[in-house]
Amino acid sequence: MFYSENIVEAVENAIKDIILEFGENSEILLLGRTRYDITVLENSDNFEFSENNTKIKYSPFPNLTLSFLTVHRSKGLEADNVILLNMQNNLLGFPNRISSDPILSLVLANKEEYLYAEERRLFYVAITRTKNRTYLVAPEMHYSQFLEELISTGSVQKTVDENKVDIENPPKCLKCEKGNLLLKTNHKNNQKFLGCTNYPHCDFTINDVNVLKKQVICKKCGGYIVEKKTSKGSFYACSNYPFCKNTDNK
Ligand SMILES: [Zn+2]
Ligand SMILES: [Zn+2]
Repeated sequence: MFYSENIVEAVENAIKDIILEFGENSEILLLGRTRYDITVLENSDNFEFSENNTKIKYSPFPNLTLSFLTVHRSKGLEADNVILLNMQNNLLGFPNRISSDPILSLVLANKEEYLYAEERRLFYVAITRTKNRTYLVAPEMHYSQFLEELISTGSVQKTVDENKVDIENPPKCLKCEKGNLLLKTNHKNNQKFLGCTNYPHCDFTINDVNVLKKQVICKKCGGYIVEKKTSKGSFYACSNYPFCKNTDNK
């Protein structure tokens, strides 16, 4: 989750992503390199802190279980979802340039890879606390070299602020007309799709997950215009195909 300016928005987008996939009762652990990392959220009225900043209420979704810990304190713990704050490339980001062990850093100062060995172990702790997925919140410019390494090995998916999900206006299910469409994963092939919140009572699905971000309504029947992928490329058509054959939406 990259942000250009607004880290609060990036954290909120990660939270919304988790809600869309796992629901409003999700458990989310925010992790910081230092205990000051959580203070960036104090600028927002949506977050309310208690018990020394370790318990957090997110007012738009009060049923979330939201907590904050430093990576050090998270050792040995596990959480359903993890958001790692502060993947910045600066003194206090990851890796933290201010070593807590001055002797060690003196001994190893000439070899950067060893200098960061402890930070690297700590980063590994951070990204392995989750059962589902770890969100790394990083500024678009100057992000952590650890993140850069993960990106170069293809082990992270980059999302930028613009890919925001419109959670206040989720797409309605066109079949039962009561449910909303939520992001789900087909565990057989790992493909994402949208399914109805009334599942298993309603089996409506859409394969084009972009409907979450932008709803284009079919002018002929009120369905969604979705991207259809074929071996020859993709085209746009109505989600009610074959009942509606609208492909140019005029
Ligand atoms: Zn439905
Ligand atoms: Zn249509």
